[in-house]
Amino acid sequence: MKYQEFTVSPQIPKDLKPLEEIAHDLWLSWNHDALNLFIRLDFDAWVKSGQNPVRMLGLVSQERYEALSRDDSYLAALRTVVDRFRRYKSGKDTWYRGSRKNTIAYFSMEYGLDVSLPIYSGGLGILSGDHMKSASDLGLPLVGVGLLYQQGYFQQYLNADGFQQESYPENDWYNMPVRKVTHKDGTDVTITVQFPASLVTACVWEARIGRTSLYLLDANVEQNTPEDRRITASLYGGDREMRIKQEILLGIGGIRALRALGINPAVTHMNEGHSAFLGLERIREYVHHQGMTRHEAMQALWPTNIFTTHTPVPAGNERFGIDMMHKYFHAITDGTGFSWEEFIALGRENPADTQEPFCMTVLAIRLSAYNNGVSKLHGEVSRQMWQQIWETLPREEIPIGHVTNGIHTRSFLSPEMKELLDRYFGPRFDDDPTHLEIWKRMDRISDEELWRTHEIRKNKLVSFARKRLRQQLLRRGASQVQQAFAEEVLSPYTLTISFARRFATYKRATLLFRDPERLRKLLTNPDRPVQLIFAGKAHPHDIPGKNLIKDIVHYASDPEIRSKIVFLENFDLEIAKHLVTGSDIWLNTPRRPLEASGTSGMKAAINGVQNFSVLDGWWDEGYNTELGYAIGAGEEYADEELQDEIESKLLYDLLEREIIPTYYERSLDGLPREWIRRMKESMRQLGGQFSTSRMLLEYAEKFYLPALKNYDKMKRDDFNQPREVAAYLQTLQSQWEGISVSALHDENSRSLKVGDSFSVSCSVHLGEIAPDQVDVQLYTGRVNSQGELESPEAVSMKQKDSDGPLHTYHGKVRCKLAGRQGYAIRVMPNHPDLVHPYVPGLIAWNS
Ligand SMILES: *Cc1c(COP(=O)(O)O)cnc(C)c1O
Repeated sequence: MKYQEFTVSPQIPKDLKPLEEIAHDLWLSWNHDALNLFIRLDFDAWVKSGQNPVRMLGLVSQERYEALSRDDSYLAALRTVVDRFRRYKSGKDTWYRGSRKNTIAYFSMEYGLDVSLPIYSGGLGILSGDHMKSASDLGLPLVGVGLLYQQGYFQQYLNADGFQQESYPENDWYNMPVRKVTHKDGTDVTITVQFPASLVTACVWEARIGRTSLYLLDANVEQNTPEDRRITASLYGGDREMRIKQEILLGIGGIRALRALGINPAVTHMNEGHSAFLGLERIREYVHHQGMTRHEAMQALWPTNIFTTHTPVPAGNERFGIDMMHKYFHAITDGTGFSWEEFIALGRENPADTQEPFCMTVLAIRLSAYNNGVSKLHGEVSRQMWQQIWETLPREEIPIGHVTNGIHTRSFLSPEMKELLDRYFGPRFDDDPTHLEIWKRMDRISDEELWRTHEIRKNKLVSFARKRLRQQLLRRGASQVQQAFAEEVLSPYTLTISFARRFATYKRATLLFRDPERLRKLLTNPDRPVQLIFAGKAHPHDIPGKNLIKDIVHYASDPEIRSKIVFLENFDLEIAKHLVTGSDIWLNTPRRPLEASGTSGMKAAINGVQNFSVLDGWWDEGYNTELGYAIGAGEEYADEELQDEIESKLLYDLLEREIIPTYYERSLDGLPREWIRRMKESMRQLGGQFSTSRMLLEYAEKFYLPALKNYDKMKRDDFNQPREVAAYLQTLQSQWEGISVSALHDENSRSLKVGDSFSVSCSVHLGEIAPDQVDVQLYTGRVNSQGELESPEAVSMKQKDSDGPLHTYHGKVRCKLAGRQGYAIRVMPNHPDLVHPYVPGLIAWNS
C-alpha cells in the first residue's frame, strides 16, 4: 500500500501553549513543579501516557484544555514554571563563560534521560543522560550524539515459574520528547555512510535537554533497504555484524550528522569504546580538508579526543573478528589513507600479533590523549588491564586516569526530599550546581523532619510495590484471591533492603540467600523483621542471570516469607526512583573489582538510604565508618566459592549485629536517632562529591578545557602543529630501535644515609635524533618483593658532552627514604606540543 504521511498535533489553547515546549524539553525530568503541571492537567491521561508529557498532550480532551485555560490558579502555576524555564534556558550566570564557537561532542550508545524516552539499558545510559543534564547546568558547549532505537531495550516480564521473558514494544517518536531535525525548507536533515553492500542513510532527531541538545541517528528511513532500516532497530540486540553496523553509524555517521547541522565537533568524548570509529571520520576530515597525511591527521585528532572506559573485565570489552573488520575496512577507513595493516594494528594490544581480534577499547585508547576510568579503583584496574599497549612503561605511569562517576542530583532526589533540602539549603541549591559544599548544611535539618520525609517515601514505595505486584499477578493470570494478597505484602514499618541492578552473575544477587535458614530468621523475626525488594533484568542470552531471578522468585513463594520478598518486573528509571528514595538499605554485592563504579548507591545516599556494599567501584572511595556499611575490607579472592562463603557470612553478621539493631533502636519519641545521624552523614559527605556536577567540573578542568585549547592553538597556526608533531614522531619512530643507554657510572659509596645523594652519569646513543628531542631520565624507586621499582620518581638528566651520535648525561640520586632502592635510566620523547610523552613504543631503558 502506498500512502501519504501526515502528523497531527493537539489543539492546545493559546494560554497553555508553553506546555508544548516544556513537554519537549527533558529539563522537565528534574523539575517536579513542571511535571506537576502535567499531572494536574489530567491525571488519567498522565497515567495512560506512561508519564510521557508529549503523548499525554494528545490524550487530554478539548473540554479539559478549555477549562484549565480559564483556571487562574493553574495559569499562575504555569507562569511560574515558564519563567523559571526561560531563565534557565537563557543560560546567564552559568559556570562556563567561554567561547561557544567550538563544540564538545559527547558520544554514547545509550542515554537514560527519562522514563518517557526508553533508549537506555542501564548504568551506562543513565550516566550519559546525567552527563548531558549537568553539561546543561554548567553551560558547557557540549552536545550529545547517539542512536534512536525503534524498540529501545527489551521489557522484562516473568512467567509463572519466575523465568524471564522479553518483549520489544515499538517506540512512537511522534509522541515522545524528540523532534526530527529538518532543513529550512522542511526536508529532513540526512547523512549517508557507504557500507559494503549499500549506501545507508540516516535522519537525525533532536532531544532538548535544557541548554543543550542530544542528536539521535535513525536508519529507519524509506531510502534504506529493509535490512539497513533495522540497523537502529534495537539497543544491544542483534548479532556481531549488527553491532559493528551500529557502531559505524554512531561514530562515522555521528560526526557527519553534526557537520550537517553546522556544528564543529572540535573536541570529541567517547563514552565507552562503541563510538571509537569517530576518530577515523575525524582523520578523514583532516586528510580531506587540510590536505594532511594520515599521520598528521592523527596528531590533530589525538590532543582533542577523550575516551572513558567502563569495563574492568577483558571479555567485556568490545572486540570484532578479523573477517568482520576486513569486510567493513573500507566503510571505516576510505579516504583516510590507512593501509589494512596500519588500521588493524590500531585495534590490537600487541600490533605484531596477527591473531588478535580488533578491540574497540584499544582503538579508542590509541586515538585519544585523554583516557580515564570511572572510579579511583577502576582507574588502577584499567592501567593494569591495558599496560601491554605501552610495553615497558611502568604501571603507575600508564596514561589512564580516573574521573569518578556521579549522578544528576536533582533528577534523583525524591520530590519530598528536594523540597526539604531546598527549604534548608536555600536557592543556591538549585541555581548554583557547582556549590558542592552546600551539603554541609545538612546539620540544619531536624532529625524529626528528615525522618518524616523518609517515612513518606517509604510509604510510597510500599504502595508502589503492591500496585506493581498486583499488575504482575494479574498478567500471570492469578485469581482474585491471589491478587488480593498483593495488598498485604511489605510493611512501611519494617527495615527494607533493596537490591536492584542488572542480573549479571558477578553482581551476586543471591548472595543473601546463601544461608536460607539464617535469612528466614531475619525475615520472620516478630520484633525486628526485615523485608527485601528485588528488581533487575538479565541479558536475554544470559541463562545463569535468568536463573538467579528464578531462584529468588522460588525462594519467595514460601508461604511463611512471601509477604517479605517482592520481585518487581521490568526494572527501569521509574522503579529505580522509587527504590532509591524509599528503601532503608541499598545492598550491593559485586565481586571486586568488577563493578567499575556503580551509581545507584549514590542515588540512594542523597535520599538518606544507607549503602551496604562490598568495597568496589565508587563505594571504595565513598565509604567510611560514619556513613554506611562495608562488606569486607576490599579483599580480592581467587576462589569464588570461598569468597561467597566468607562475604555472605559478613553480610549476615553485619545485619544481625549492627544494621538491624541500629534501625530498631528508638528514642522515647520513636525516632531511630543513630540511624538518622548516619543518614545525615551520608547525605552531607556524599551529596556533592558523587554528583555529575562534580564529575563534569572534573571532565571540564582535566580534559574539555585543555582539549578546546589544544584545538584553538592548532587552528590558529593553520594546523601546522600536528604536521610538525607527526614529522617529529616519525623521526623518533624511524630511529628509536637504534637508541641505547650504556656505561652507567655512579659515585655511590654504598653506605648511604637518608639525605645523602650521589651522581650518576651515562652515555646515550641517539643516532640521528637530536638531544633536545628526547628526555633522558633518571628513574628511582623502592625495590619491592617482586624486584620491581615501586613509587618511582623520574627526573631529567643533564646533557654534558656530545661525540657524534653519542651523548653524555649526568644526574643526581637523592636518598629520601630508608630501605632498598634502585635506579634506572630511560629515554622518552620530549616535545612541547605533545599532551603527554607516553607514546606507545617510544620508551627505551638502559640495558
Ligand atoms: C542508576 C541506574 C542503574 C545503574 O545502577 P548500578 O549502580 O550501576 O547498578 C541502572 N538502571 C537504572 C534504571 C538506574 O536508574
